[in-house]
Amino acid sequence: MKQDLVIKNARIVDGTGAPWFRGDVRLSEGRIAAVGPGLDTEGAEILDAAGRYLAPGFIDAHCHDDLAFLRDPTRPEKARQGVTSIVVGNCSFSLYPAPEPAVDLLRGHFSGLLGETARSEVFADLNGYRAALETPGIALNLVSLVGHAALRLAVMGYEKRAATAAEIRAMQDLLRPQLRTGAAGLSLGLVYPPSAFAETAELVALAETVREEGGVLAAHVRSYEANLLRSIEEFIAVLEAAGAPGLLSHLQSAGRPNWGQIPKALVLLEAARARGIDISFDMYPYPAGSSYMLQLLPPSAQEGGMSALLARLRDPETRAALKQWVEQGSNDGHGQSKISLIGWGNVMISGVGNPALKALEGSRMDKAAADLGIAPFDLLVRFVEEDGGQTAIVMFQLSEDDLHAACCHPLHMVGSDGLPRPGTRPHPRAFGTFPRVLGPLRRDKKWFSLEDAVRRMTAIPAQRFSLGARGLIRPGMVADLVLFEDSVMDHATFEEPVQAPSGITDVWVAGEAVVAAGAVTGHLPGRVLGRG
Ligand SMILES: [Zn+2]
Repeated sequence: MKQDLVIKNARIVDGTGAPWFRGDVRLSEGRIAAVGPGLDTEGAEILDAAGRYLAPGFIDAHCHDDLAFLRDPTRPEKARQGVTSIVVGNCSFSLYPAPEPAVDLLRGHFSGLLGETARSEVFADLNGYRAALETPGIALNLVSLVGHAALRLAVMGYEKRAATAAEIRAMQDLLRPQLRTGAAGLSLGLVYPPSAFAETAELVALAETVREEGGVLAAHVRSYEANLLRSIEEFIAVLEAAGAPGLLSHLQSAGRPNWGQIPKALVLLEAARARGIDISFDMYPYPAGSSYMLQLLPPSAQEGGMSALLARLRDPETRAALKQWVEQGSNDGHGQSKISLIGWGNVMISGVGNPALKALEGSRMDKAAADLGIAPFDLLVRFVEEDGGQTAIVMFQLSEDDLHAACCHPLHMVGSDGLPRPGTRPHPRAFGTFPRVLGPLRRDKKWFSLEDAVRRMTAIPAQRFSLGARGLIRPGMVADLVLFEDSVMDHATFEEPVQAPSGITDVWVAGEAVVAAGAVTGHLPGRVLGRG
């Protein structure tokens, strides 16, 4: 039996939003046994917090650590941010369910977002994914959404058309067992083929399955550009028709001509809630986004999959038409061309697989193309052809005012949207989201109080994903905890993203230290969490 631990003299931020109070917390058998001032320390190990803040372990409500977690079960850059639970399977991308004929399709699809993915890293179902994580052990807890892409690839491949009634039923039949075995819900990625090829009726039917099984529907909506408001309305309509609870992914308005839409989006969300629709949202604390290079092309260019896209780029006429769409843009009712909004100079190459192109990591597209003596569009095509489309980019596209409006709103929770890919220069959000919220935004810019900041990282996501015994410091709750100093600070930048934060000293998962005195311990107390 493990000895109890009493953390003494902490400023306890309990996750409810209540003002911090000075006290002690006793950990016993992986749970919080007692909370209060002057606790009995008999038979317990003692850790003197010396006035540091003690909060529930942070929950990353939105990330893409699906593959990183399989490859490095300690997830050091997450643990060092104080994160104890992460939500994967976002934006339509999950590593399951893949019935045998669809394994290579899903493998290829996932590789686009996070680099070469092996056959053995794609799973028939959540149980397979869970076993691959829990058998060797994991440091942090994992909550998984089912990606819509996996369902569509298994049933329809990359076909760009509405699903038939039989196909919708087949997708529901694939989704339901995942939800029954613990998946938190379903995620849509309505700019990413094949999720983008779905029509509203399909989304409503899948949302009904989510509601029947008690899950949540998360959505990367069809547009975060000129059609943001219309896209949010579509998502609200899906939730209303199905009666499902919803989480709008990374609420933002991209491209200078579209700045200023967030307050209007918030009005839409508030109005939906007034009608009884249960909707909230996540957002990361940076004015830049990140995705894969293919997002610069229209979704229709990927109809039929990668080989069809490569054939289109080899055909001079189609290639010219795509170049025109990318650079001049068109508003086809879905996404607007990113490049037409922000220009090549605001796109940074952040993750490359092909060693021959690796030197371009960290460069802006305009500069990289000029150095090679080619046009930026031709460089994009080179990445598609020679890097298998597996190139990650960072897009400088958001306004601080919109970011502030989103991140301070009561319906907001923190999600990093990190795209971890070792050996690359990813968006710094993968390394700095949580300390950035607590340090620069809370302490320095005063966007929110400490208690409010912590609530957005703990109790609010715990409720959204039905993680019953987590997200609060209360007797009986699981002892997922983080101890940090008021000087907490992120150090990851766009230039040097791979930087650990400072000021987060100790992190516990189920009472076991995964970070102790600032160092990762290597312990693996995490689990794949179900609902409730
Ligand atoms: Zn997304």
